[in-house]
Amino acid sequence: MSLPPASATDGLSRLVVDLDAVARNYLFLKKMLAPGVDCAAVVKADAYGLGAAPVAQNLYRQGCRHFFVAEIDEGLSVLRALRGDDSAPVQPGQDVNVYVLDGPRGASIEAFFTKGIVPVLNSPGDIALWAEQARRVAQRLPAVLHLDTGMNRLGLTAAETDALDAAVLSAFDLRYVMSHLACAEQPQNPMNARQRQEFEQRARKISGVLRLSLANSGGVFLGPEYHYDLVRPGAAIYGLQPQDGGKNPMQNVLSLEGRILQVRTVDRDGAAGYGATRALVKGTRTATVALGYADGYFRSLSDKGLVYIAGAACPVLGRVSMDSFIVDISNAATDVATGDWAEVIGPHQSPDDVAKQAGTIGYEVLTSLGTRLKRTYHGGQS
Ligand SMILES: *Cc1c(COP(=O)(O)O)cnc(C)c1O
Repeated sequence: MSLPPASATDGLSRLVVDLDAVARNYLFLKKMLAPGVDCAAVVKADAYGLGAAPVAQNLYRQGCRHFFVAEIDEGLSVLRALRGDDSAPVQPGQDVNVYVLDGPRGASIEAFFTKGIVPVLNSPGDIALWAEQARRVAQRLPAVLHLDTGMNRLGLTAAETDALDAAVLSAFDLRYVMSHLACAEQPQNPMNARQRQEFEQRARKISGVLRLSLANSGGVFLGPEYHYDLVRPGAAIYGLQPQDGGKNPMQNVLSLEGRILQVRTVDRDGAAGYGATRALVKGTRTATVALGYADGYFRSLSDKGLVYIAGAACPVLGRVSMDSFIVDISNAATDVATGDWAEVIGPHQSPDDVAKQAGTIGYEVLTSLGTRLKRTYHGGQS
């Protein structure tokens, strides 16, 4: 994506989300699916920090009708973004489906049935709670049932699945039975096949269940036997690499740049940043970039991060501060000046690259992008 040149009226940072690239990633995943398999979008945590409203609207335009969030309030935001007005409940089979992964709880619990938002039932407690609500409103309430097949995070155990009471389940309009893969980013990991087999055996035993969902981003790439009726990618839609090794088949959707606040040629031997941890020799050319750990430029990038200034790789010197960090611009053009932009994420390095430098994963880079960064959106109107 090409950006307009910096102007003095721009802020100190710019974070641009390329909605066309988001759409291309979604359509790429969808193309991998057999006809009849639906492709949901996981838009929890504000669409992994990118902005749930514009992302969901953009994916809706590409035909996406299933949206997963973690909490009910996120679900309400998505519904408002998609329908302008969330006053009427979503009817079964209607257009938009919003699912809440953390179950039927939260201060806005009423909203589940007034708005038709679908909770994922993760435990016998969730099932009892939701059955009670169904009795109270004398309706068959929609639900997704989650079976734990080895991750031990959320979902019913094997014994809990066996103990399921058909009468209780009949209180629900059961949309899907789902499970979640622990190692989908490792295609060679035998746990994938183990989870898939267990999922299938247990899910098929539950009476009245027609539709299944297992795959996250990595799971989509494990092959069609992992797709079932609905896949639930998040990361891949946002350009993160879905499986380890090889070339990333997804496109980066982000550009993050920080403004250069100061350029200097170090006038005597000394050190850079807090703690004076990094020695600087006289004559080193440095620039100070207006981004810091408050913006999600992790402190663990101290002496490890890299930015690109007019295409030249410039390593971070010393500790990253809250609002700024220092880079070595010895390799950059001699005319680098205050007001120029330093690329943190963009054509030269992806969120996954930054994650590697910081010793984390792309998911954490995206969801840590600070609230101070002004998100702007590129494309997405078709
Ligand atoms: C977050 C999440 C997803 C999406 O995972 P990605 O790796 O981002 O594709 C899918 N299913 C569940 C249950 C999740 O919690």
